[in-house]
Amino acid sequence: MTDTIFGKIIRREIPADIVYEDEFALAFRDVTPQAPVHILVIPKQPIAMLEQVEDGDRQLLGHLLLTVKKVAAQENLAKGYRVVVNNGEHGGQTVFHLHLHLLGDRQLGWPPG
Ligand code: AMP
Repeated sequence: MTDTIFGKIIRREIPADIVYEDEFALAFRDVTPQAPVHILVIPKQPIAMLEQVEDGDRQLLGHLLLTVKKVAAQENLAKGYRVVVNNGEHGGQTVFHLHLHLLGDRQLGWPPG
């Protein structure tokens, strides 16, 4: 179990620009956007990182991806978008509550830095 700034957002202890919520997931705008649309989709369950998910999380992980798809439609990202999960130190993870970055509304480069 882990508590982070995202846990505080889930519990409404600190403000966030929330764009979607259901029983299992929350989506809110990244405070330091790297694209015109930059939204974080997180599970309400405090899983620290992708590395720590288990077979029993299969349904939740699918739910998170479906949530990304719903939020992307809500944001009118018809031209495409990118979904990123940073895992651990070399992945550049800074907040240890699993999150999917949804980036869009500009042409993104490849490979990433
Ligand atoms: P990562 O580097 O993959 O762990 O991403 C963490 C992301 O959380 C970064 O893009 C931060 O800008 C973002 N972030 C940190 N604190 C907040 C916050 N209070 N509200 C929204 N986004 C945040």
